[in-house]
Amino acid sequence: MSIAEKKVASIHYTLKNADGATLDSSEGQEPLTYLHGFQNLVAGLESELTGKKVGDKLSVIVEPENGYGEKDTNLIQTLKREMFGGIETIEVGMEFHAETQNGMQVVEVIDVEGDTVTIDGNHPLAGVDLYFDVEVTDIRDATEEELTHGHVHGEGGCGHDHSEEEHVHSEDCNH
Ligand code: ZN
Repeated sequence: MSIAEKKVASIHYTLKNADGATLDSSEGQEPLTYLHGFQNLVAGLESELTGKKVGDKLSVIVEPENGYGEKDTNLIQTLKREMFGGIETIEVGMEFHAETQNGMQVVEVIDVEGDTVTIDGNHPLAGVDLYFDVEVTDIRDATEEELTHGHVHGEGGCGHDHSEEEHVHSEDCNH
């Protein structure tokens, strides 16, 4: 069996940036299990996995346009410090939840100068070249239910708890 649309694949992966720093990895954990062909992975990685078999190893470089997108400068804003009323110390690297056009988003403080604070609401990996090392560990057919939902259920999946009456898919499972 090889990876194709409507297959569920399990992969071990390590994600590094151009400097070789590890950003994310499944090492020491269960492999990541995902439904192929449903944009559960970044596009540039998913397309390279098509046709791969268990045991295959691959290194993939994903550019922002096939990863988390380019940085959107509209999401970088300089605000008056007084808008952060009640917070005594504001430092670069701090994260806040903010209401935006796209709902609640995490924004990161990227600059503090005088009485202004610059925040960035881009995905942390926007504009970053992604260096993936991947090994395929398992492939199976998806169930009808998984295909209906567009994601994996069960062990290692990024779906929801089926003991809950309502289907709430709160976790974004793009890695
Ligand atoms: Zn589901």
